[in-house]
Amino acid sequence: MIREGSIRLPFAYAAGKSGSTYLRALQEEQRILGSRCSACDRILAPARSFCPTCGDAELQTVEIGPGGVLLAWTERPDKGILGLVKLDSADTAIVHRILGSSDVLSTGMRVQARFGDASDENPEDSLLGFAPEVADS
Ligand SMILES: [Zn+2]
Repeated sequence: MIREGSIRLPFAYAAGKSGSTYLRALQEEQRILGSRCSACDRILAPARSFCPTCGDAELQTVEIGPGGVLLAWTERPDKGILGLVKLDSADTAIVHRILGSSDVLSTGMRVQARFGDASDENPEDSLLGFAPEVADS
């Protein structure tokens, strides 16, 4: 027997130094920050305190995006679209909301970050999501 349900699970966590730097840049400057690993030269998205590939902790904060490539996405009714976006300059991808209709999405297409105002309670909401790039004419 399977019984489906859901629970509301509020939480709070300490974002740490690199996470706080990332969130502050989103909220106050509408910039997306990553980290360059000095050992393997990979640029990680978002900013981190150590490299998950080689374990090095000598990371430099760098700006990434705001454009990128949509690698994959999924859509859930009433939940919207979640996409895997590899931001310009970054070697890893992030999962975030994709804005607009799935009818126009395709793997490999260019997307651009869209920013808005966020509350102090949730600075991550400053990044509204990514929308398909409009081609210059
Ligand atoms: Zn590394």
